[in-house]
Amino acid sequence: MSSSASTLSRITVLSGGVGGARFLQGLLHGLRTGAVPGGSADTEVTVVANTADDWWIHGLKVCPDLDTVMYTLGDGIDVERGWGRREETWSAKTELEAYGVEPTWFGLGDRDIATHLVRTQMLEAGYTLSQVTEALCRRWQPGVRLLPMSDDRVETHIAVADPDSPSGRKVIHFQEYWVRLHAEVPAEAVLVVGQDAATPAPGVLEAITDTDLVVLPPSNPVVSVGTILGVPGIRDAVRGTPAPVVGVSPIVGGTHVHGMARQMLTSVGVEVSAAGVGTHYGARSHGGVLDGWLVDEGDAAEVAALEEAGLRARAVPLMMSGPDATAAMAAAAVSLVAPQ
Ligand code: GDP
Ligand code: CA
Repeated sequence: MSSSASTLSRITVLSGGVGGARFLQGLLHGLRTGAVPGGSADTEVTVVANTADDWWIHGLKVCPDLDTVMYTLGDGIDVERGWGRREETWSAKTELEAYGVEPTWFGLGDRDIATHLVRTQMLEAGYTLSQVTEALCRRWQPGVRLLPMSDDRVETHIAVADPDSPSGRKVIHFQEYWVRLHAEVPAEAVLVVGQDAATPAPGVLEAITDTDLVVLPPSNPVVSVGTILGVPGIRDAVRGTPAPVVGVSPIVGGTHVHGMARQMLTSVGVEVSAAGVGTHYGARSHGGVLDGWLVDEGDAAEVAALEEAGLRARAVPLMMSGPDATAAMAAAAVSLVAPQ
């Protein structure tokens, strides 16, 4: 950490949607209440958000993870659903269905559509996704600097079995796998289209290099954090940053809490356990991206294997049941990699 040993002036978080946003809410709460060691209400938090869930639908550019973080921290989220706007109505969706316009399985709420209209118009006028995100955040004031991982088009696609196709499989957009198929069929492969040619958005590498702490929140290790790290340059920046890097396990008791981390980990051949994900990320001392890995108290038996793999590891309660519980997780993550 920087000069005055335990002061956290800046924290950078690499986030997906729901899991990352809830963690960030707890982190900010912990910074404001003094629960996070070395942090304060003045600590600057930068969020590098996954954009590989993004897609174009009905002529609109939709960025689910950026919006989930922005709405959650800006107090506009539908808390129960975990995505989209509070007090949402669905007239536009119903009207599109009445026209028989496909796909009908993707929910675009009326309030949410306004966000996508602003974004799409700005992109078409020549602004970058970074600039659009900054403009949208001027309304929402999320209390963090929110950066897309890249301004380039990067989209996760999933290969699934298809008996009607000569190859026996077909490749569908991540949204179709998640929203239409509910991740209920096996993912045979994860393909991140456009990733190799993408560059990190302005400020992303600096946010990882010039910071006091990098955090991998409990986001999906494959299709959220994995896609961020896969943008050329980002993984190397995390490996090389002088700041400590700590992660929080999204796998508790051998499965994900919400979402589809289990399906995604299985498809890339990673054991679905807290230790499996920790060693998949790997210790920086062994060529990976982490210094510390926090696991749930129920997974305490996995700490020894993680330490064996070169990681600092500790077991604490990892259920994000409310701001105080989540702030305590964030505090434990900070303490785990604090200089000893
Ligand atoms: P998405 O983009 O909406 O899929 O969100 P993320 O990738 O940020 O987060 C999904 C991950 O959050 C899943 O893998 C869940 O296991 C994890 N998650 C959700 N709630 C909790 C929780 O209360 N505790 C922990 N440890 N992980 C959680
Ligand atoms: Ca996501």
